[in-house]
Amino acid sequence: MGNELAGKVAVVTGGASGLGSAMVERFVAEGARVVVGDLDADGGARVAGRCRESALFEVTDVGDPEQVARLVDLAVARFGGLHIMCNNAGISGTMHKSLLHDDLADFQQVMSVNVLGVMAGTRFAARHMSEQGGGSIINLSSVGGVQAGGGVMTYRASKAAVIHFTKSAAIELAQYDIRVNCIAPGNIPTDLLAKASTTMSPEKAERMTRAMRDMMNQDRPLPREGTPEDVAEAAVYFAGDRSRYLTGTVLTVDGGTTAGKPLRRRTEPASNGGAPVGSS
Ligand code: NAD
Repeated sequence: MGNELAGKVAVVTGGASGLGSAMVERFVAEGARVVVGDLDADGGARVAGRCRESALFEVTDVGDPEQVARLVDLAVARFGGLHIMCNNAGISGTMHKSLLHDDLADFQQVMSVNVLGVMAGTRFAARHMSEQGGGSIINLSSVGGVQAGGGVMTYRASKAAVIHFTKSAAIELAQYDIRVNCIAPGNIPTDLLAKASTTMSPEKAERMTRAMRDMMNQDRPLPREGTPEDVAEAAVYFAGDRSRYLTGTVLTVDGGTTAGKPLRRRTEPASNGGAPVGSS
């Protein structure tokens, strides 16, 4: 790995697992020191432990702005500043058969983690960054916030809100040289989907998760599934100076899913005139 984030201090929320833990480890590999905030005490301690003195973990509920403020203050107090804020913690909410079956019972919780958490993280980080000459804020949206579709309606609405908030914050915070950007991943295998099926038996939840992933795999132009490291790579880009003129953007890390439907059959490279494989 490189030195792209040498001397920088980052906060990563939801860093105990999935995309967040990949970001923490990648940031550290690039020379950053990272404060990890998550509800999951064991997972968070494990991730921070793997990073030795380059990471700290603090149990944090991002749905509570006071806890988010404490997390940001911890980074400044222990590592001497804050240059990167990654508002990654998120939940999918409960999966329902359809909107007609959705009782909206998890609305407050999903919105408080996915939207309030992002807004609080942006606000508290920006307060420090505005006094120290700038920084980079990275908010996790989703392809579900970019593209309309059926299912997990509250999640979709929350992730669309993250995009709109990010662009608005980018406009307001540009005067302090604070950049605010979004990453919108699509269908990266983590625990996120499984957690959406908590009302089902484990077998049914696994069947449903597999079916959803199969369906999403068919909608993706690039043939392979994405990995948490693919998302972490995008986060390093936004965190570092290579993206210094980027703010208010949404980067989809989705193998082309939001670009459009894949071709049914793979085509040969241009040297063959781009003809579909097997066509005569
Ligand atoms: P994940 O479930 O593996 O990780 C989410 C982490 O957030 C967990 O460690 C969890 O403990 C933590 N968390 C949940 N509620 C919290 C709270 N109130 N306070 C602090 N931490 C909390 O899921 P993931 O796939 O790594 O998701 C990370 C982010 O990426 C989320 O915002 C998610 O919506 C977004 N995302 C993921 C995908 C994907 O394909 N995996 C796609 C689109 C968007």
